[in-house]
Amino acid sequence: MRILVINAGSSSLKYQLFDMANETVLAKGKVERIGMDTAILTHEPDSKPEVREVSEILDHTTAIRRVLDMLVHPRDGLLRVISEIDAVGHRVVHGGEAFKGSVLVDSEVKREIKKLFDLAPLHNPAHILGIEAVETNMPHVPQVVVFDTAFHQTMPPAAYLYPVPMAFYRKHKVRRYGFHGTSHQYVSERAAAFLGRSLEQLKIITCHIGNGASLSAVMGGKSVDTSMGMTPLEGLMMGTRSGDLDPAIVPYAMGKEDLTIGEVNSMLNRHSGLLAISGTSSDMREIEEAKAAGDKQATLAFDMFEYRLRKYIGAYAAAMDGVDVLVFTAGIGENSELLRRSVCERLTFLGIDLDEELNRTGSGTERTISRPGSRVEVLVIPTNEEWMIARDTYVLVKERGLLKPNVVQ
Ligand code: AMP
Repeated sequence: MRILVINAGSSSLKYQLFDMANETVLAKGKVERIGMDTAILTHEPDSKPEVREVSEILDHTTAIRRVLDMLVHPRDGLLRVISEIDAVGHRVVHGGEAFKGSVLVDSEVKREIKKLFDLAPLHNPAHILGIEAVETNMPHVPQVVVFDTAFHQTMPPAAYLYPVPMAFYRKHKVRRYGFHGTSHQYVSERAAAFLGRSLEQLKIITCHIGNGASLSAVMGGKSVDTSMGMTPLEGLMMGTRSGDLDPAIVPYAMGKEDLTIGEVNSMLNRHSGLLAISGTSSDMREIEEAKAAGDKQATLAFDMFEYRLRKYIGAYAAAMDGVDVLVFTAGIGENSELLRRSVCERLTFLGIDLDEELNRTGSGTERTISRPGSRVEVLVIPTNEEWMIARDTYVLVKERGLLKPNVVQ
């Protein structure tokens, strides 16, 4: 069974083709600059050279068409015919309160996703374009949507409500939704499997630390709290996002600098975080290099980033009345030995005993970085959101009897 996973943005589209029988990636790639006459398709087939094509791709329908053409290309492709793709899974950022898990796409599901355009104006409209482009190009293929928010729908009201008048929640759906749910779910499941322990019995804090960053408190396999909120702006300090701040700063800054709503939004989403404090970069690798060279602002940016992360870990241990496993994932979590060490060496009171040698060595694999006997197991688990999307798609399509009868599983 072959599943195509699509992550559609407004001007870009990423894809991965999975062979579910062997759990392998047959090809991956992306289309960038959709809407322009110099759009770029980069195709990376497994065990064949990468292909890069520049051409006019004015909309998502054409983008999907080009991807499908590439997948059946006599030299660079991996399939004989497009109908070898059994189902398509889409990443959708916002599922609001309507979606507590992944679902098959139908007209009602599309209507619900469209109702959420207000809550995710940059993402959900692009996802609908992706879904409809697949409908046009492959009218009979079943499609599944997997939501970044769904995993966090198990949070209790005490965690997801904001202490503002209830009308904001009732009328306008103002509440914490959380994001990166597919990643938090994946790494918490993998952590339990890696340790050979039952997920139901574990209290896990998952740290998805990339350009965007969030934590989740996962108790018995369910998200009970997460640091991103109604939007992905809340919580940790990030590459270019501020994370938590006193909300009174918003009207104050608008008044002092004569900013519009759009400008203040842009300041907090695109010009804050590591970038604002370092003054040079939003990229943790560059921050670490500048810090090593003695740059004061980069050092401060790193320290703020680490301090805020450490405070959240403490808070989530409190939220769950303990913690058994701490997981680091995503670009920074998986790769920054310095950040993991800086965080863990000041969390010894929680029972975290980091093994500096294990923390320094190994990459790209699931591994323990705490010492034997550490009360809290500290793990690095590379995230794999695309695989989760493929897996959910496969499970749903199979459950509904939508697998092609001639496909031997
Ligand atoms: P992501 O959004 O998950 O792709 O993560 C991107 C972030 O990971 C960027 O800030 C990168 O600088 C950071 N990153 C990737 N590799 C390393 C590394 N070896 N050390 C520190 N940060 C890294």
